[in-house]
Order: sequence, then structure tokens, then C-alpha cells
Amino acid sequence: MTTPTPTPGIHHVTCIAGNPQQNMDFWVETLGLRLVKRSINQDDAGTYHFFFADAEGTPGTSMTFFPWEDMKQGKVGSGQVSRTAFRVPEGSLDYWEERFEEYGVDYDERVERFGETVLPFRDPDDLPVELVAVEIGDDDPTVPWTEFVPEDVAIRGFHSVTLWLADPDPTTDLLRTMGLEEVATEQAQGDTPGDERTRFAAAGPVGRYVDVLPTIQGGRQGHGTVHHVAFQTPTDEDQRAMREAVQSAGLRPTQQIDRHWFRSVYFREFGGVLFELATRDPGYTSDEPLDDLGGRLVLPGKFEDRREEIEAKLTDVTIPTADAVEADD
Ligand code: ZN
Repeated sequence: MTTPTPTPGIHHVTCIAGNPQQNMDFWVETLGLRLVKRSINQDDAGTYHFFFADAEGTPGTSMTFFPWEDMKQGKVGSGQVSRTAFRVPEGSLDYWEERFEEYGVDYDERVERFGETVLPFRDPDDLPVELVAVEIGDDDPTVPWTEFVPEDVAIRGFHSVTLWLADPDPTTDLLRTMGLEEVATEQAQGDTPGDERTRFAAAGPVGRYVDVLPTIQGGRQGHGTVHHVAFQTPTDEDQRAMREAVQSAGLRPTQQIDRHWFRSVYFREFGGVLFELATRDPGYTSDEPLDDLGGRLVLPGKFEDRREEIEAKLTDVTIPTADAVEADD
């Protein structure tokens, strides 16, 4: 077996929401991300799949949601991604606290973690999210979206995910197999149940950290929880090698599945968290021009033939735009 090319980091994170309009309003207007794709769950065509990202849908920036209205409220616990953290420019947390006050967002006091300042908050479905202030270099691959927030405060892709695990060791071995390196350990603090937080770093600049916290606190999937985390395997070749390595480690990855904007392999890691490996290509601009991303309901492949039936099942949603919000004021 050859050693796989280390993953550059997180590709996307997919979560479960309740009301689709509430989800759209929060992630687009309150947080200022761009809706880069409006589609359906390819395994459940009566449910939306929203993709919120930076201005260009750069790998490592997209937070995606299945708004499953019939599902119950979930509980964050062991075997899940417990926290999803985004990068924001240094000096922008005052702006975000003021915005959270203005929009009535449920946020906590800032905490210091591994020398960085973290602002924890929850989305309307009670999903735990964090903003981490970092220095954004001139050569940063992410592109700020400025419809609702100024450029110098805009969210710039993922910072990290935190995994809560009953027994972290097999998972940390797997992270090493995927090319992440252990970089630091410190006493856990804030609203987390474990004693010690261990940080692993991937190779790329965006979505590069995975933190691991040991806990046996039980959870259940539902609104306000993460469904899976995807890691970048830029090429098919990278993905094939990573898939083999994961299989050799004793896990059971799926075959490659065409997800229209990337090709994916899924497996449940040892601690119970659903991992995905996603290619870089063809990307979100493969079926809509950059200027029009998110503008229409995109139905991949065979689903296009069922457009009428599918659209009839979906709740209507309005995409917030700065013009419409101003007109309301
Ligand atoms: Zn995914």
C-alpha cells in the first residue's frame, strides 16, 4: 500500500436543519455567507440541500444543510462533530458580537484556545458554531462575499471541526493515516465536557484543524447536529489512495459516488462520525456561472426529468438579498 497524499483539510461540513427559510436567512443574511448552490438531497429528493460558502465556493468554505423539517431536535454528543468553527479576520470579533446582539443570536463569551480567540454561538436550530479570529494573508485562497457584511470581517472558510469521541485513540490514528499531524494539547474549557483538547493539523491553509475531545456524553442526530464532515482529496488519484488507506485501517468505505459538484467516498470512522472524501472538481461553477451561483434550483442528472414533481414537494424559500432587506427597512 502506498501512503496517500495528505488531505489539505476540510472540504465541507453538512448539517441537519429544521425550517429551510429560517436556515437560509441566518446563514446568508446574519452570517453573510453566499448561497452557492440550491439543490436537493440526492438520497431524499423531497428535501432541499443548501450550500453556503465564500464568494466562489472555494473548497474548505462550504457549510451545507439538509432542512429535514419532520426530524426532531438533535443532541450533540459522542460520535459527532460537536463544533464547527469558521475563520474570520483578526480584529473582527467586536463587529460579530454587535451583529449577534442586533440579530438576537445566542452567543457566549469569547474563549482563548491554542493562542487564538474563539467566539461561540448557536444557529437558529441550536447548532453549535464558532468564529475564530486569525490572520488572513494576502494570498489566502478564500474570497470574501460582501452582500451583507464588509470584506474586512467576512467569514473566510472553515477553521476546524471538533470531534467528541468516547475513545479517541483509533480515530487519532486514522487522522494520522489521512495525513494530519498532532500539533498541540491543552486543557479543555468553555462548554465542552472533555478534559483535554488535542489538535491535529492538515496541510492546507483553510479548514486545516481537527480537534479531538474525549467524552462519553450521549447524543442523537436531529436538528442542530452535524451529519458528516468531508475532507479534501483533490484528485481521483488522491481519493483512490486515501480510500485504500482507510480500508486497510479496518474501515468500510463506499465506492466512489458522483455528487455532481464533487465525487465522494463515505465511511463511518471508528468513533462513529461519518467522514467523506471529496474531490476538488468539477466544483460549484460546473453547472451555473460564478455570477449566478445559487440562483436556481439545480437538479443533478436524472432528477431534472422529475423537476415538476420535486418542486411541488419543496417548501418555497426566498433568498435574502441586500436590496430586498433595504426595501423592508
Ligand atoms: Zn458531503
